[in-house]
Amino acid sequence: MLKIKGKLSKKSDSGFEKAIFSTLFNQHDPGRRPEMMVEPQDVDDIIATVRYAQANGLKISVCSGGHSWSANHLREGSILINMKGFNRYAIDHAAMTATAGPGVGGSVLLGELFNRGLFFPAGHCKGVCIGGYLLQGGFAWNGRKLGLACESVIGLDIVTANGDYVFASPHENADLYWAARGAGAGFFGVVTCFHLQLYPKPKYYGMMAHVFSNKHLEHVFRWAHEVGPNVPTAVEFQLLMSQNALNLLGPGIEAVAPIFADSKDELNEAKAFLQNSPIKSKATLRVPFVPLHIKHMYRLTMTHYPYQHHWGVDNMWTSAPIDELMPHLKTIAATMPPPPAHLLWLNWQPPQRRSEMAFSMEDKVYIALYGAWKNPANTPQYESWAPELMRKMEPLARGIQLADEGLHKRTARFVSDAHLQKLDQIRWQHDPEGLFNPWHSRPRLEL
Ligand SMILES: Cc1cc2nc3c(=O)[nH]c(=O)nc-3n(C[C@H](O)[C@H](O)[C@H](O)COP(=O)(O)OP(=O)(O)OC[C@H]3O[C@@H](n4cnc5c(N)ncnc54)[C@H](O)[C@@H]3O)c2cc1C
Repeated sequence: MLKIKGKLSKKSDSGFEKAIFSTLFNQHDPGRRPEMMVEPQDVDDIIATVRYAQANGLKISVCSGGHSWSANHLREGSILINMKGFNRYAIDHAAMTATAGPGVGGSVLLGELFNRGLFFPAGHCKGVCIGGYLLQGGFAWNGRKLGLACESVIGLDIVTANGDYVFASPHENADLYWAARGAGAGFFGVVTCFHLQLYPKPKYYGMMAHVFSNKHLEHVFRWAHEVGPNVPTAVEFQLLMSQNALNLLGPGIEAVAPIFADSKDELNEAKAFLQNSPIKSKATLRVPFVPLHIKHMYRLTMTHYPYQHHWGVDNMWTSAPIDELMPHLKTIAATMPPPPAHLLWLNWQPPQRRSEMAFSMEDKVYIALYGAWKNPANTPQYESWAPELMRKMEPLARGIQLADEGLHKRTARFVSDAHLQKLDQIRWQHDPEGLFNPWHSRPRLEL
């Protein structure tokens, strides 16, 4: 019998289904169910759960904010450790560091830091918790300048597969530290706390946007592709294509530019690429730079990712020529399900160098498809929209982001082969019996 101080719910309990669904952002039921769910009160509860699973032939899965699109944490024959309750954080302003549990919402942490004149590269939506977000990399507000959020993780407290409680950093358990920065849903330990590097709040922050009708699709994507390498890193330039741009203007493309600048000159340089855009006269609507508190930026992004929806999501990194991408972009526009379904095009343009870590898959442009529907009756119609289109675009892709993985539907490369091999070796050392569930699927190694 598993004895813990926290809450334990079993598959046979009457409230189990409700408890499981409360862990899911994506309401699309994957059908998979764990044998039980543990909501630990402290680290001893986690250690006891890990040992119990080992002794009873069960596997372990973990969730924090439950925003995995693929419901990665719902697995058969497993105990689910729900870390949502590990949601405390402490900020050390003088040291410019923070500690935060995996159940802390990125928007909660960043909101608090913002009010204190500080910054951390948190993700763009409310509800996403730092647990899953930091393990997979972390594409952040101001992320083109500050890097992937996991590059600002300076240490982690982890319960390993044999029930040890360890600290991982560049100096201690460096292999676990390497793995925890990019392994994402395939990480083989329970992270109980992240140690984070903080930054000063940028001096200027806000957004500007141009909105185009879909009849200009070809002009807009050609311009975005061409201008990409020259967009300053203070700008997270993205295109959002949907059947109802701004929830108002019908089928169209929002060219959105969140800006985080440290000086007036940097702000002006950041604004210039949109202000001087050669296609600005085609825009139905031009919104000049508006200074916005981070809480308002969150409110704006949430209009694209509402709760209580079913989602079918997939993605790709690419540096393919625009002529090869264009026919696919037109097909995406022509087959786009109703809102809030959308395409995201992110001009990423990665830097030459990154920290040494498991994360190793990125490219010039990121394209993600978010199929969304409210009524479960529409599932057969929409669930395959994103993965099927991404399957057709596979020859143009380098690989995928684990942030938006749909590895239960389509296998794709999410780290380099060399890093996948190194991850296997580290997993073998720390979890030789495969206690922790790995990714839903993985590519074959071609070394
Ligand atoms: C609406 C929405 C918006 C998003 N926006 C962004 C964005 O702006 N930038 C970005 O980079 N990503 C974004 N994502 C993707 C998001 O970062 C990932 O889905 C991330 O995994 C979510 O973290 P979570 O803790 O909420 O999810 P969970 O589903 O709880 O975690 C995902 C997986 O991470 C692992 N995991 C989680 N916690 C732990 C832990 N404590 N210890 C060990 N393993 C753990 C588990 O394998 C788990 O299945 C978004 C997702 C959604 C749904």
